[in-house]
Amino acid sequence: MRDDMAPTLCAEAADAMKAVDGTRLLASLRDLATHGQRPDGGVAREALSEAELAARRWLVSSLQGPHYGWYIDDAANLMVRRAGQQSLPPVMTGSHIDTQPIGGWLDGAYGVMAGLEVLRALDDAGIRTLRPIDVVAWTNEEGCRFSPGTMGSSAFAASRRLNGFLEVRDATGQSFAEARDAARQCTPQADAMPLGYPVRAYIEAHIEQGPVLQDGGHTLGIVTGIQGVRWFEVIVKGMSAHAGTTPLGVRQDALLSAARLVAELSATAAAAEDPDLRWTVGRFQAMPGSVNTVAEQVAFTVDMRHPDDRVLDRLEARLTAAVNDRPGPCTGRLRTLMRRQPTHFDADVLRVVEHAARLTGTPHRRLVSGAFHDAMHLSDVCPAAMLFVPSVGGVSHHPAEDTPAADLVAGARALAGALTSLACS
Ligand SMILES: [Zn+2]
Repeated sequence: MRDDMAPTLCAEAADAMKAVDGTRLLASLRDLATHGQRPDGGVAREALSEAELAARRWLVSSLQGPHYGWYIDDAANLMVRRAGQQSLPPVMTGSHIDTQPIGGWLDGAYGVMAGLEVLRALDDAGIRTLRPIDVVAWTNEEGCRFSPGTMGSSAFAASRRLNGFLEVRDATGQSFAEARDAARQCTPQADAMPLGYPVRAYIEAHIEQGPVLQDGGHTLGIVTGIQGVRWFEVIVKGMSAHAGTTPLGVRQDALLSAARLVAELSATAAAAEDPDLRWTVGRFQAMPGSVNTVAEQVAFTVDMRHPDDRVLDRLEARLTAAVNDRPGPCTGRLRTLMRRQPTHFDADVLRVVEHAARLTGTPHRRLVSGAFHDAMHLSDVCPAAMLFVPSVGGVSHHPAEDTPAADLVAGARALAGALTSLACS
């Protein structure tokens, strides 16, 4: 059987796709962007801020009806459920409505509003799915006000993590617990929902935040996974000395040694000529940092990313060897700061999303996400996948963040087809 004949979508999926109203979707995105709107076109709506609480109130008021129920859980994840014919575990979609301090109008907002548009389209088409469909706005994806990011989806996937999050404070001293309580009070219509209820499948629509789709002329990206990340700190130790009196040949110059190490490792990474490999030294600090003193010690960080853990294993081994077996008078030490395995999305959900993408008639391709998303945590507890729309110029987390309107609509149509199909069985 040819792949494009595969009967992966249910009969109602095409009707749901047709019922997606692009004008309504764009208007709802613009309405959401008024909460935290900046004069430069950007949006400032950090997690659980006044602007975000106002956006939450607006969301709840924007979709009401006899077969809708709004819910909020202990991490302040806010969700609306469209009832199914049976009370089976729901199919879920969504993303986040918080932004960076100076963010754009789409980012996670697109995934939430595309999800709500799918519910409205199902209403218009008179489709009652077998399973409920939930659209969720995850709390604090960005992690700029309260660290770490993806708190809401992380707590949903493993509720034991919530206690640690509740104590986290923002720069003003307010705790996540206090902000969470304010969010619960601001939407009294939302009933309490437990964290981590069973979910049949999760699809998250999001802007790509990179240039791959635009550069290839693709409208939709079927996201097969999220690359793995490892963070390290390297300490190189030498001995400080007077810059004027110490001859070059007898120095234990930590800065020169560290700089050579960075150059050598960066050359190794570049020599791999692997388009999926990311290698970054983003912080480099010399101590004591004096103009006329040879550096005693240097600390620098390494951020390495790849979709394949084995590639990261090999690179980490090279890094470890290079740091431990330093030639010359300086010594090196390596410390792991963070490690996240690559995420591999569910093959069956990916097939459904891909089929729906094909039905939109727009060019699409498979790709791996370079950034973390809430879907990463959901894939720990249910079959999950993501759908990307292009980012103009690859720009995001910036007031200039944008996506062509037709692409936003195509993404919502594909989402409608995939969700409907998953909710029909
Ligand atoms: Zn996002």
